[in-house]
Amino acid sequence: MFAHLRRLAVLLAVLAFLPTSPAHAAPPELPDRIAAAWKKDPLYIDEGLRVAFPKAELDRIRAAAKTVDFPVYIALVPRTPEFREDQVDLVTLLYARIGKPALYTVWSVSDDYWAGSSKLTRPAGLKGRELVGVQLDDKQDNDLVKDRPAPGIARTVQQAATAYDGRPLPQIPASDLQPPRKRREGPSVTDQEDKAAFTGMGIGGGIGFLLTLILTLLHRRSTARRRDGIRPRSATAKATAKARAKAAAAAKARGEAPSTVSAVQDQADRWLTKAGRSVKSLEARKNKSSEQLDRRDDAVRRLDAARTLREAKADDLLTTAGALVLARQAHQAATATKVQPPCFFDPTHPSGTHQATWSDDTDVPACRNCARTVERGGTPRGLRVPGRSGLLGLDRSEVPYWTLDPEDSPLVASGFGALTDDLPERVERAFGGVR
Ligand SMILES: [Zn+2]
Repeated sequence: MFAHLRRLAVLLAVLAFLPTSPAHAAPPELPDRIAAAWKKDPLYIDEGLRVAFPKAELDRIRAAAKTVDFPVYIALVPRTPEFREDQVDLVTLLYARIGKPALYTVWSVSDDYWAGSSKLTRPAGLKGRELVGVQLDDKQDNDLVKDRPAPGIARTVQQAATAYDGRPLPQIPASDLQPPRKRREGPSVTDQEDKAAFTGMGIGGGIGFLLTLILTLLHRRSTARRRDGIRPRSATAKATAKARAKAAAAAKARGEAPSTVSAVQDQADRWLTKAGRSVKSLEARKNKSSEQLDRRDDAVRRLDAARTLREAKADDLLTTAGALVLARQAHQAATATKVQPPCFFDPTHPSGTHQATWSDDTDVPACRNCARTVERGGTPRGLRVPGRSGLLGLDRSEVPYWTLDPEDSPLVASGFGALTDDLPERVERAFGGVR
């Protein structure tokens, strides 16, 4: 899973450097293009991918789709900015356009890394398991190779079949799995020292340096780089203290109160209660449409993950803020409003309804205030958490959460779901055993 997260970070890095769309006459929107193509052929390949696509891979994808009794719609697309805009809702938008009970699965590629999102809809009245539930239970799912799409698509079709009629999941052929890796037992002393250096240097260099560092963290993080490229420097200690004092004064001047755990706990508990109620009232409706059933499934999935987080580490700011985000999204899903990503900078802010272009053209969802700060060239204060270890040893001064090691927390790695909308799955993987 760590390797998985790291690859995701690499993927995010690549996204940051993709060129923006050319400004010629607007072609049909991505969901329309795919839906129109699907009416002729349920396997859509984006034009840009078609030429180089190996025929054997394509044959295998078609064969996989034929192994089940329900229709399978597959799209293969590059991760362009247009894709990113539609990403969260794409399978839902596509289902709305096709309107047939089926498996809808969209696979996108960037830098040889394939990732998919899928939706299974059943004929009205037919019951079965949630696809996402089957995927979560599928321990091998994370170990699939990601440099070509057929293994992931074949597996998704099998998972959907299991969700559909309860048949057991077959074994994954060894050729579809990544070579076994050594799993880390816990951070070594060297790792901890390196992390201290990371955190310390970030603050020491001031905000500009911090940004570079965050991007490095998100984008090019690797053990080799940590070991070889960055070493503690005692000279930074003085600058660190100075920069910290400056940042604290600036925050005070802006009138920002630090997020205390208890305030976030209250907020999270309010949303948990609210979401619990709205999910119940959706459940209580008779003759639910398949769209309502899907919303219920989505809300339940988010609410379960929110409860898992709230119970996992009751006094931890990260998990509590994660519970808040997921409970709010569960409420949004259950009440037919659009499920919004959180503000990347601080998940306890209002939802991330704006896009903020933050350093090197990295777009992140942000609340209105944070989006404005970014627009003015600033970096929002962000959700602050105690640094894991300062250069001064006893120092527990607070750092923006995104400077923490993404490998240590699914909340950091996904920006509380602002960067990737798969937080419930990540949470169940990381904390699911706790309940
Ligand atoms: Zn914000």
